[in-house]
Amino acid sequence: MSDDPRLADIIRHGQEGTVVLLGFPYDAGVAINGGRPGACHGPEKFRSWIGRYGTADNPEWNIDLTRITIGDAGDIPADLPLDQSHTALTEKTASIIQNGGIPFVVGGGNDQSWPNARALLDSKPDRSIGVINIDAHLDVRPLKDGQAHSGSPFRLLLEDPRFSGSQFIEFAAQGSQVSREHANYVREREGQIIWYSEVARGDAAAQAFRSALGRLAWECDSLFVSFDLDSIRSSDAPGVSCPGIMGLRAKEAFEMAFNAGAHPKVDLFDLSEYNPLIEDERTGRLAVGIFYHFCLGVASRRGVS
Ligand code: MN
Repeated sequence: MSDDPRLADIIRHGQEGTVVLLGFPYDAGVAINGGRPGACHGPEKFRSWIGRYGTADNPEWNIDLTRITIGDAGDIPADLPLDQSHTALTEKTASIIQNGGIPFVVGGGNDQSWPNARALLDSKPDRSIGVINIDAHLDVRPLKDGQAHSGSPFRLLLEDPRFSGSQFIEFAAQGSQVSREHANYVREREGQIIWYSEVARGDAAAQAFRSALGRLAWECDSLFVSFDLDSIRSSDAPGVSCPGIMGLRAKEAFEMAFNAGAHPKVDLFDLSEYNPLIEDERTGRLAVGIFYHFCLGVASRRGVS
């Protein structure tokens, strides 16, 4: 046994695991929304950075990841038409959930979040579902020519009759990137918007995120945390389809990922918009750091194995 086992050393091939990595290598939804292509390379590059990040037994947090099992279910096949890729993603994510795993889905464009949310709704029809979208944008744009895209996943969620808008939180949205009409759309459906400016001071973001999780957990049985990397400031996350000058810091992103992992009701997490063609290393390490801290959080859950 090595004296320095890493995250990569404990990931097992296949879809068995407490946490199961799944890749969605598509950026067609980003292109439809007018964004720059490249996020289709996200899952492949993400995996290449896993090998360079994260001790399996973390002596600072005092958490040993070998308490849990981490699987890698591979990618959704990359050559499907976009609507079929969404169907395939829903089926795969649902099969991981039904197998008892917590999917951690790496995009790819943010359009993945509707197929992922749908997988949770399909898998837990008698459960009340809550969703937090950590994003500079609201992503409630209408479809374009009938097509889903990276700006539309949460409109599709809010229009599903199985989902209650009062159980939806937009976290760290930025008013300079959000139209009045879209903000009104979320509020008319009783969704909550927590603006970036409300959580930008000091260590407020991680604390506000914990409170948001707590509020949803009070009303819901099962939670989906969706994390768009463009909610993080571009000095920490330059390699995203739409970089923002202002935003969350890396440290806050890691704390929030840990909190999401640690919460016993979080059953699904997705990470969107890593675009290694714009910037590979800094953003890749950040994305893997979010995965690592999510896994640390899950390993800290009581009774998990
Ligand atoms: Mn987004």
